[in-house]
Amino acid sequence: GGATARGSKSSFTSLVNRWNGRPYTQRYYDILEKRKTLPVWHQKEEFQKALKDNQALILVGETGSGKTTQIPQFVLEAIDVESADRRKKFMVGCTQLRRVDAISVSGRVAAEMDVTIGEEVGYSVRFEECISDKTVLKYLTDGMLLREVMNDPLLCRYKVIILDEAHERTLATDMLFGVLKRVLKCRPELKLVIMSATFEDSEKFQGYFFGSPLIKVPCRLHPVEIFYTHGPERDYLEAAIRTVLQVHMCEPPGDILVFLTGKQEIEDACCKITKEVSKMGDKVEPVKLVPLYSTPTPSSLTEAGRKILLSRNIAEVSSTIDGIVYVIDPGFEKKKVYNPRVRVESSLVSPISKELAVQRSNHAGRTQPGTCFRLYTEKSFKNDLQPQTYPEILRLNLANTVLTLKKLGIDDLVHFDFMDPPAPESLLRALEVLNYLGALDDNGNLTKLGEIMSEFPLDPQMGKMLVVSSEFNCSSEILSISAMLSVPNCFIRPWNAQKAAAHEAKARFVHIDGDHLTLLNVYHAYKQNNEDESWCYENFVDYKALKSADNLRQQLARIMARFNLKFCSTDFNSRDYYTNIRKAMLAGFFMQVAHLERTGYYLTVKDNQVVNLHPSCCLDHKPEWVIYNEYVLTSKNFIRTVTDVRGEWLVEIAPHYYDLDHFPQCEAKRVLEKLYRKKEESKNTH
Ligand code: ADP
Ligand code: MG
Repeated sequence: GGATARGSKSSFTSLVNRWNGRPYTQRYYDILEKRKTLPVWHQKEEFQKALKDNQALILVGETGSGKTTQIPQFVLEAIDVESADRRKKFMVGCTQLRRVDAISVSGRVAAEMDVTIGEEVGYSVRFEECISDKTVLKYLTDGMLLREVMNDPLLCRYKVIILDEAHERTLATDMLFGVLKRVLKCRPELKLVIMSATFEDSEKFQGYFFGSPLIKVPCRLHPVEIFYTHGPERDYLEAAIRTVLQVHMCEPPGDILVFLTGKQEIEDACCKITKEVSKMGDKVEPVKLVPLYSTPTPSSLTEAGRKILLSRNIAEVSSTIDGIVYVIDPGFEKKKVYNPRVRVESSLVSPISKELAVQRSNHAGRTQPGTCFRLYTEKSFKNDLQPQTYPEILRLNLANTVLTLKKLGIDDLVHFDFMDPPAPESLLRALEVLNYLGALDDNGNLTKLGEIMSEFPLDPQMGKMLVVSSEFNCSSEILSISAMLSVPNCFIRPWNAQKAAAHEAKARFVHIDGDHLTLLNVYHAYKQNNEDESWCYENFVDYKALKSADNLRQQLARIMARFNLKFCSTDFNSRDYYTNIRKAMLAGFFMQVAHLERTGYYLTVKDNQVVNLHPSCCLDHKPEWVIYNEYVLTSKNFIRTVTDVRGEWLVEIAPHYYDLDHFPQCEAKRVLEKLYRKKEESKNTH
């Protein structure tokens, strides 16, 4: 017999994977050694004891300390010891803010546990699920967990919920706080772990969750030297590029991480840095530019030369990227902000908070002592930056939130236990918008239409447009437009010699009535050209954006089918083909309309804000009435993605909103009065 004596039974069982009964592979042991070096590993017993003794607890640890990958495994181990029945009776759910993170971390943890992804460990993100009836650990986006609460209000399938990245205070996280607090009261055996990368909110979390204990993972940061500028920088992008080049020329090896505000800015910076470095020729080492937006970060970037990583936010800088020694922080981020008084939600480039500045600079000290260049003055850091970023619930449009909470059966929003209650004005605005859309009745109760709208992962206006589109005989086209509006801009805008060619390419897709129909043209052309990547390349449209729009479209179609919403199109040769589409769009977006004044400016309807057509707008004329998808605030107020609509349709489709008794005095009102009179007259003559 070749069997070597392994000693006692207990040491034998440790060689077998308890989850699938198979012997552990060598890879398992290799990864285990690495896991043991993570900071959280030293607090395993402390954590497990606290979990046993409390219903909720809070864990704070720097990015990279092992929270997301290790804690769920500690939980599994702790509850497995306690309970004999392992499967189906319990599941551990761990939330993530981004779908890419849920997918990638579940893959990593499956490898760490030596199981197949989709079996014992799985993930669930919008439109994609990879789980089985064996699943004991599920990573899911916070949005998905909210959707699950809709169908399983007490989250009966879960024994432990882990809310990750709680410090980010996204809308979904804040909603989950309130919802889970209620569930915890109903289910004393359910446990909640809140994980955060910053200390700032942790006492607040403790207070909110019944004085739960706090476990702090000591951080292992190396010192980071901070430099400030002597005076304010006029152009932070130019300053950031200049600093990158200086560091590259003068500083010892080590990768550079630069924080910028948007995709376009990152692309521009990449081009400019490449150009400048190549100008320097052999005098300097080569560089590798790595833009970090939207795609998961490759975990092994081991090429020679200095890497320059460009990122929009901390979340994109995966904990797997080692070797960052220099951080360049211009001090800005793009943030969505909602102004309930004028009902405008817009993306604004705004100064970051002190808290975020510190988090950014910490990235320089993860593997060795590092340096952070803040492109603003020390005085500005001390006096101008606000201490913390406001949670999203205090600064975003709440229409979607309110719809979701209503669907969860939470009727009294004013007394709902929010950790940070939103301004009553924001809640009232949201209720009002949902009432205008017909999602809530006059008593604030969810209508049948509202129920269906809440099933779509879309903003209420778009949800409404989609749900009613079959009444306008164009649900197929509205599906395509909704999908195209939900993905990043599909037009590629090169800044070099190809600019003119790209402009020409876009011109071929233009529809004279506006941008929404132009997007529809792009989508149709993409399908007619068999979703061909090189066709996209030749026509300066973003293949990835089109592909995800197509995917999203299928998923939306599935939800429509579930509610027996009809798929239909008007005959393409009919005069009504585009008219029907424009009317259906107006049925959802009648609150996002602007009127052309005699002065040549547009005024948004009812709120009377002066706006301009965005430079990207394809219209070659200025229609009297337009609907818009987005309000952009930069140096001027712009409306982006705009389509021509007719005044007659406003009074026909949305008379309850275009109710002149509640309309401010303005040019638009006088035009509408005429339109109503015309409508009356034609009614009388027929
Ligand atoms: P935290 O959540 O505290 O930021 P994580 O648990 O995400 O920490 O990461 C801890 C460590 O696990 C990382 O530093 C990295 O070494 C490893 N790790 C995490 N995700 C992956 C992955 N997808 N591939 C390889 N290693 C990973
Ligand atoms: Mg994490």
